[in-house]
Amino acid sequence: MTVSLKDSTPLMRQYFEIKSKYPDTVLLYRMGDFYETFDEDARTVHKILGITLTKRANGKAADVALAGFPYHALDSYLPKLIRAGFRVAVCEQLEDPKFAKGIVKRDVTEVVTPGTTLSDKILEHKSNNYLACVTSEVVGDQMFIGLAFVDASTGEFAAGEFPEQEALAHLQVFAPSEIVVPYSMHGELKSRLGPIPAVLTRQEDWLFSRDYTYDLLVRHFNTHSLKGFGLEEHPAGIVAAGAALHYLRETQRSEVGHIRSLSLLAESEYMILDRVTLRNLDVFEDSRLPGRAGNLLSILDRTRTSMGARKLKSWIARPLKVPGPIKERLDAVQEIVNGRPMSETLPARLKEISDLERLISKVCARRATPRDVFGLGESLKIVPSLIAVLHPASSGPLLRIRDSLKPLDDLTDEIERALKADPPASLKDGGVIREGYSAELDEIRTVAREGKQYIANLQQRERERTGIGSLKVQYNQVFGYYIEVTNTHKDKVPADYIRKQTMTHAERFVTPELKEYEDKVLHAEERLVRLEQELFEQLCGTVAARTADIQSNAGLIAELDCYASFAEVAVAYKYIKPTVDDGPVIRIEEGRHPVVERLLPPDEPFIPNDLFLDEQNQIHIITGPNMAGKSCYLRQVGLIVLLAQIGSFVPARSAAIGLVDKIFTRVGASDNMAAGESTFLVEMNEAANILNNATSRSLILLDEIGRGTSTFDGLSIAWAIVEHLHIHPSRRPKTLFATHYHELVEIEELLPRVRNYNMEVKKYGDKVVFLRKLVPGGCDHSYGIEVARLAGLPDGVIERAREVMRNLESHELSAHKDQNELLKNLRRTDPTVQMTMFEDGPGQKIKEELARIDPDQLTPLEALNKLSELKKLLE
Ligand code: ATP
Repeated sequence: MTVSLKDSTPLMRQYFEIKSKYPDTVLLYRMGDFYETFDEDARTVHKILGITLTKRANGKAADVALAGFPYHALDSYLPKLIRAGFRVAVCEQLEDPKFAKGIVKRDVTEVVTPGTTLSDKILEHKSNNYLACVTSEVVGDQMFIGLAFVDASTGEFAAGEFPEQEALAHLQVFAPSEIVVPYSMHGELKSRLGPIPAVLTRQEDWLFSRDYTYDLLVRHFNTHSLKGFGLEEHPAGIVAAGAALHYLRETQRSEVGHIRSLSLLAESEYMILDRVTLRNLDVFEDSRLPGRAGNLLSILDRTRTSMGARKLKSWIARPLKVPGPIKERLDAVQEIVNGRPMSETLPARLKEISDLERLISKVCARRATPRDVFGLGESLKIVPSLIAVLHPASSGPLLRIRDSLKPLDDLTDEIERALKADPPASLKDGGVIREGYSAELDEIRTVAREGKQYIANLQQRERERTGIGSLKVQYNQVFGYYIEVTNTHKDKVPADYIRKQTMTHAERFVTPELKEYEDKVLHAEERLVRLEQELFEQLCGTVAARTADIQSNAGLIAELDCYASFAEVAVAYKYIKPTVDDGPVIRIEEGRHPVVERLLPPDEPFIPNDLFLDEQNQIHIITGPNMAGKSCYLRQVGLIVLLAQIGSFVPARSAAIGLVDKIFTRVGASDNMAAGESTFLVEMNEAANILNNATSRSLILLDEIGRGTSTFDGLSIAWAIVEHLHIHPSRRPKTLFATHYHELVEIEELLPRVRNYNMEVKKYGDKVVFLRKLVPGGCDHSYGIEVARLAGLPDGVIERAREVMRNLESHELSAHKDQNELLKNLRRTDPTVQMTMFEDGPGQKIKEELARIDPDQLTPLEALNKLSELKKLLE
């Protein structure tokens, strides 16, 4: 709706002026004890928060829609708006309405957005909350996407530049909750980013200029250049990082001092697991294996701190690709597994540590409460005991952690001296600073206390002086302290009492003495609150000055927490330490699926299986009936490789992992159909992506590819894909190919690096028993009909299926045979042929006879005779 500014009331004019500076936000406009929203925002608030929509008269201009809520409800309503994906600008009254001349001065004091919030009520403590900034730069004739990710709640900041596909993959991995983009690119990026569930925030184009962003970054980090961050030669990355920083400062209204470094996001750093693979391997989401629910993260996460939980999640999402750092992690885990005292005491110590990363961010943003700072101090006090636990450490990472952790005794002492134990959450009512911390504060407190005591004593003295036993000294907001005398004793009131108020049953008085002490008390209390605030702010300043040390401790504690978690899982579930190297071999002995093995009923043991892939054994064709365990096997291989590359022990008897640069997964269309997401086209898109991007170091897991189309198309595509993966001169990814098409086993004879395996089943008569054991050789049979029988398909259907099958088998499909042969045969044995018994032959006569009969006219005997006549027609 367009409202005429000229005709609006002065208040609404002020509102619209402020609102125009904050487009794309819901503006909460403080009016007295309420936050009001107008116009479109009011409708949003009505829809999201269920608040009644009314109207506000607006002078000669049209009425505007209005919806508001009391100021104290902000804490519960604001998170709801943010979670619903809105950006919210909070506009406060900047002066006391009592003293305002004309319209009260107002301005926005905070812009809260999904990607920049520090609120505990919005953030999930076990997940990072990233703000991303996306931009593009053309360098020479190539276009680069600049990407920056910043977690305002922890201070993590990274940027880089990538070709488009890779940039998209990074966005999927970081899963930001908000993405900042230049106005001019908004439409284009929106369509390119596709289904990433983040709020897109437009910012003016000038912000994305190279000079401005470079300058901003250099000034923020107080450096001469960005060389130290490795970003100097990445103009698109610089622009993205600078724009992200600008946006953060604008929304936070602070210098964001806790953003202390910027790391370069480089392609070679870690393995990119795209969204499809993360989902197919049930890494973060629940398993879609039939009847199972569970995911890798839930099995692995035994962290004791939120910082550890977040780090673990990011380790899982970004496995490493080079042996050195992986080996280090594995050594650290090994040491904790071996060292009993360490494995027992570490979790206990870690459990006592609060979220240092987020607490220090709040301190820097001036949003910390006394309780936050107290909690931060208490957590830092655990550091010396962690160092002590790590005393016997000998592995690289644990030694590094032990030697790098800083006890920060001086700071914890200072916090302890300053703050009362378990201080109130808010500074408003004082009572935060400990006695003895500030002489000035103690003195004022004494004055306030003594003044109060003096006033309390005054009541007794005045009672004695006046002889009025019921005389009371009381206090209210309007008059301050006063003496109340009931009407019965009115005549005993001394001359020095000054009347203030007459009530029906009593009179209220003040005396000069009372006023003098009142002044002292009230003045002291006011000063008290102000001084406590000042002292607390100073304390926050002292804490903020140690941000680098605290962040470093937080990072080390998070890392240690991950090792301890890996170690605990390894011991609990009997995982072993894998070896990792750059070689071409992946060998797993008795590997298990980490999630499925935890979810099987106790009487159903998980059957382990082996794997051997190398340059000569490049592609495994894995056949076996439905439910035999093919999908489970494929996923378990993917997960074991992933676990090894994040530095975790793995569920196997032994594992040697030649490092993988990417894990690609493709799950057949029908497996995904339930989620309503996969069509044959999507399946083929994903297959194309795999074929175009896999390298010899990649691991490809193809589960039932080609199932989303007709048998012949599907089989032909599957066949051609295997050939392609095999034939390419330089890209020969290791591939596990699970399929129903047992016809595919013939490829083994044609291509030297293909091996057949099958999931063993035993057939007893008509019954199939799944052994879940992977054995060499192809499967000659799909057992689909037997599995269908297990599933309870009617006997008639099963019998008919067997018949059709026998016909098909007598014209077995082979890559060398003509498909038409089979089709002809299929047509001949088409079940619909059998269903035409009424169309000709005896059927036709029976049909004619039946048509002539009128059952209502037949006696039971005639009916029986007719039936026997009809039967004879069949003979
Ligand atoms: P489909 O072709 O229908 O997808 P599949 O051959 O891929 O079947 P899976 O889905 O892997 O079969 O396995 C079916 C079920 O068998 C799983 O849900 C799991 O419970 C169980 N299972 C699989 N592998 C094993 C194993 N090694 N040990 C014990 N149980 C297993």
